Amino acid sequence: MPATEPKKKIIITLDGWSSTGKSTLARQLAKELNYVYIDSGAMYRAITLYFLRNHVDWTKHSAVEKALKNITLEFTSNHKSGHTDICLNGENVEFVIRDLVIAEKVSEVAAVKEVRTFAVAQQQAMGKNKGIVMDGRDIGTTVFPQAELKIFMTADESVRVHRRFKELYQKNPNITLEEVKNNLEMRDYIDSHREVSPLRQAEDAIVLDNSHLTMKQQLEIAQKWVKERM
Ligand code: C5P
Repeated sequence: MPATEPKKKIIITLDGWSSTGKSTLARQLAKELNYVYIDSGAMYRAITLYFLRNHVDWTKHSAVEKALKNITLEFTSNHKSGHTDICLNGENVEFVIRDLVIAEKVSEVAAVKEVRTFAVAQQQAMGKNKGIVMDGRDIGTTVFPQAELKIFMTADESVRVHRRFKELYQKNPNITLEEVKNNLEMRDYIDSHREVSPLRQAEDAIVLDNSHLTMKQQLEIAQKWVKERM
């Protein structure tokens, strides 16, 4: 008999507004706990990429249903970056899905019922053995309502706009702060007003406002919550 019981595996969800640093914190927690990290937003972005490339009219249910049958999403380890990349039908699309062209359409695509059913079923399957950290918009409310730890992340809008601008500017120096701000506001509006699984704080979620926190400070706060749940 081991002297101490092995720690029980839990499900950790991180939801919240765009550019609140969900993926950074989720990745850090997963690494530390040796858990799987899943970026659910990457799935919606990859589906959007497929729709744009194949001229799928996502306002038509039959077109969406047909297109989804041709989409396979997988996550693969990137040994260079140490991160998990998303593959669309075998192609690593991690870089291209971060483009503003995708960000401009992803919230419309993610509001389509069939798209959500398709993505949520895969997300739930990934969490069936627990030991997972997943970030998104509806993970604590719809995907894993039974999750042991739910974090809802928020930050002042100007902080979020500057964060996202810095990230996108590295790839495209022609991008403007205004474009980034408009995109953020549009996505947050559509994400929180859609009919199916809108972005909401789960009743049992803990709010983490990181407007004035360093990454180290926010990690320490989250680590404390994780400890309490294990
Ligand atoms: O997290 P990220 O910003 O990459 O997500 C991109 C978009 O995907 C969001 O703006 C939202 O429209 C959609 N999304 C969603 N549900 C999730 C994760 C992301 O609707 N669980």
